Amino acid sequence: MRRNSIKFIIRILVIAAIAFIVTDLYARAGGAGGDSGSSGGGDSGDGGDIIYLIFMILRMLPFPINIIAAGIVIGGLAVSSIYTKRTVKQKTIFNQLPTGDPVNSIKGYDRFIRSSPDFNEENFINNVKSAFLNIQEAWQNQDLSKVRKFLSDGVYQRFNTQFKMMKLLRQVNTIDNIEIKNIYIDKIESDGLYDIIHTAIHASVNDQFVCRIDSSLNSGGKEEFVEYWSFLKKRGKERKDLYSSDNCPNCGSSLPADMGEVSRCESCGTLTNSGEYDWVLSEITQADDYISAHPKLAKSENLTEKIRKIIDENEDFAVQLVEDKACNGYLQILTAMACNDPSVMRRFVSDKVFNGIGINERGLITAYNRIFLNDVFLVGISEESDKNVLHIAVKSSYQRIQIDNNNKISRIDEAVVSRTEVVFMSRDKNALESRGSLYAHSCPGCGAPVENSLSIDCAYCGSAMNSTGTEWIITDLMSISAYNEWLSSNKSDLSYSVDTGLIDKLYDVRDFAFNNVMLVIAADGVYADAERQFAESLAKKWGYSVEKLQPFFAMAQNSQLVIRMPEDSKKQKKIFKLMKKAAESDQNISSAEQKLLDYIKLQYGLDESDAA
Ligand SMILES: [Zn+2]
Ligand SMILES: [Zn+2]
Repeated sequence: MRRNSIKFIIRILVIAAIAFIVTDLYARAGGAGGDSGSSGGGDSGDGGDIIYLIFMILRMLPFPINIIAAGIVIGGLAVSSIYTKRTVKQKTIFNQLPTGDPVNSIKGYDRFIRSSPDFNEENFINNVKSAFLNIQEAWQNQDLSKVRKFLSDGVYQRFNTQFKMMKLLRQVNTIDNIEIKNIYIDKIESDGLYDIIHTAIHASVNDQFVCRIDSSLNSGGKEEFVEYWSFLKKRGKERKDLYSSDNCPNCGSSLPADMGEVSRCESCGTLTNSGEYDWVLSEITQADDYISAHPKLAKSENLTEKIRKIIDENEDFAVQLVEDKACNGYLQILTAMACNDPSVMRRFVSDKVFNGIGINERGLITAYNRIFLNDVFLVGISEESDKNVLHIAVKSSYQRIQIDNNNKISRIDEAVVSRTEVVFMSRDKNALESRGSLYAHSCPGCGAPVENSLSIDCAYCGSAMNSTGTEWIITDLMSISAYNEWLSSNKSDLSYSVDTGLIDKLYDVRDFAFNNVMLVIAADGVYADAERQFAESLAKKWGYSVEKLQPFFAMAQNSQLVIRMPEDSKKQKKIFKLMKKAAESDQNISSAEQKLLDYIKLQYGLDESDAA
């Protein structure tokens, strides 16, 4: 009986602790589901809930367990107050952020400037600035019409899916006091016929995220952050201004006021976001994900050339463009599942994928309180009869909320969780050129607009839309562990693959551990020399770029990292040991570090012998 009560109360405490620490998911456009527990203010309900919880503990449990339990709750409060105090501490850390090197010393610049001699850095940065400000406005209005022309379809879908979820949960996000502190070019890559410029944006905003169904989902406050915005353009093409003009870059006629899903000129039919005319926003990455992009996986010339040799049937092929489709399709699959509406995804998935995706039989809506794609990238290529198959890993973080018929919510995930799945994209080797953009609701056979439908045949030209003859179609979807299993029996079919151990590490121990190590190092707000050395040696060992540690640390200090743990308890122990080692690296485990370690120990049920 006593044991059961203890178990019960520990369960409550864990849930309460998660609620204190991971309540506020930080919002704003591009935000990645982190934890901005520093906001604190405005959650007047919490105080009352805590007093009630302590009252219930004292009343319901036998002595002395009730006193111990109440003590732990109060201890939990102390942990959450560490997070509140960070707001003050974070001010110093942002002064130490890298401010960018001169553009001509940046990786990839020499090659880039040879083919684009008229590139104007100042002009480019100004466009990034205006894109950033306009997107914040579009985000809070939940209206992308003014920025659609320069968004890739994948980025458009990321926002669009979040808007759909926010509507389900009746959420609004207001943003004010936007301050851009710095924008600089971090890296330039080439990918097929395209160049990609990655820019770092250091800014602060004040945001208020309000849920009209349930105020426990409210969050917000002042946030300072660094995120990386990636822009893509076809190499050597003359720039036609998409940022300050509302006219078609091809024919000059005025663009529709709201282009919706397809960024197409009505007069000449060109797609303004093809990269043919101007820099297109093709990805937004948070500092913690940006740093974890392994150098080996970067879109290097070598990789692209290698892939182009495998897939040489279409000169417009670029890895980034297929990744963009995978991201777009993946989010629409999530939407289909959330709303129990399979017609959302029917047109671009194979029968196998369509039949394998579960729809809630009770018809309950599963909304996502924040859904972010952290990372999307190519991990392998195989061949299947006459098709090329690209394997694209999609890492997302989210918190699922179920809404019943009376608009009452219940949390499926207590906190933000992250998950990686692999999407298989297939296309015939001798594919015809697509005339539409299937993922953006236009028929690849004839270009006509198509509605969500359970029929796969185009109403205009009659062709099957999910045919691999014209477009990259989603032909499989699996978890990372299922993918590793698939690999072990299909190894010989692979014409390209990243080291599978790397995928495993990347999305497992290494990735989780590094994140958590940074979190524990930042817990006391001090980045001591010994801690820095520890983090740097770990970064080197695991292939992170050492110069990106500072922004990562800043995120940790700014409470924008969530604790991440894999399912496997052996791996949890391994990670916990590393975290402990990190905390000890400066010969001093501060009380804040200790509290965080204790919290994790409690939450994951790690006993003292594991932690030794
Ligand atoms: Zn036009
Ligand atoms: Zn058609």
